[in-house]
Amino acid sequence: NDTYISVGTDITDRILTDIELKKAKESAEESLKVKNEFLANMSHEIRTPLNAIIGFTDLLLETKLTTEQKLHLETMQNSGEILLSLINDVLDLSKLESGKLEIEVIPFNLHKQLNEVVRLMKIKAREKNISLNLEIDSNTPKEVVGDPTRLGQILLNLIGNAIKFTNKGSVTVSVKQLKESTKSTTVFFEIQDTGIGIVSNKINTVFGAFTQAKSDTSRIYGGTGLGLTIVKKLVSLLSGQITVESKFGKGSVFKFTLPLQKSSSKTKVEEHEED
Ligand code: ADP
Repeated sequence: NDTYISVGTDITDRILTDIELKKAKESAEESLKVKNEFLANMSHEIRTPLNAIIGFTDLLLETKLTTEQKLHLETMQNSGEILLSLINDVLDLSKLESGKLEIEVIPFNLHKQLNEVVRLMKIKAREKNISLNLEIDSNTPKEVVGDPTRLGQILLNLIGNAIKFTNKGSVTVSVKQLKESTKSTTVFFEIQDTGIGIVSNKINTVFGAFTQAKSDTSRIYGGTGLGLTIVKKLVSLLSGQITVESKFGKGSVFKFTLPLQKSSSKTKVEEHEED
């Protein structure tokens, strides 16, 4: 019976394919695991001596030095810090890919965290003569429960990029509540700059690892193309979503949402803020 043979062959083919697919998947997962473990170990091994180099460079800079010696030490210190941030990015990325990055869920004051991040980044903005503004809508909850460190990391990356890729004008961080229920809230963050913008055919690639919108980006602005990859993975780990819009030569807007729990009266955060 032709039909019988033909059906049988199809099933055999499918079973073989399924087994092969399963094996290929297992082998891909295994190599990803090995790669991530290797990266995590290497990053750790590199970080320890690097911290010593940076630490002792700091100490040496406090001693009596000639202008030339000071300049050389500062170059060493800067290079060490660039290397350290690269290592930290690689480590974060490998943890994110292997699902080992732990999310902290603690009560924190969202307004205070935003002010703190912006205060830090204002130093960078000032160096470039760019104004950095923070606009928190009055509907934005203050006391929330979530991961303030990871939120800080996302914001530092996005604001850092906005300042880096803006040569004149301003960077504006706007925050508002999108929706709320009795227990949770979704907060919307927008980081807008008046910088160089991103060409339309590269906009979909900026969240990819080691990608930069222009081939001369690394030479002119530095960086490795890992920041936005980490940001995107962090936002999705925190159950949010991120998008980007940009006009080449005019500026870019990165927008992301973050669902946060509302702080109950038991976990009320202490108010340390001035506002
Ligand atoms: P890096 O900044 O280290 O190059 P990122 O992953 O943070 O890497 O960003 C990837 C690329 O996206 C950048 O190299 C740059 O080309 C582009 N990009 C990111 N943010 C902006 C921005 N605000 N304005 C213009 N281009 C940007």
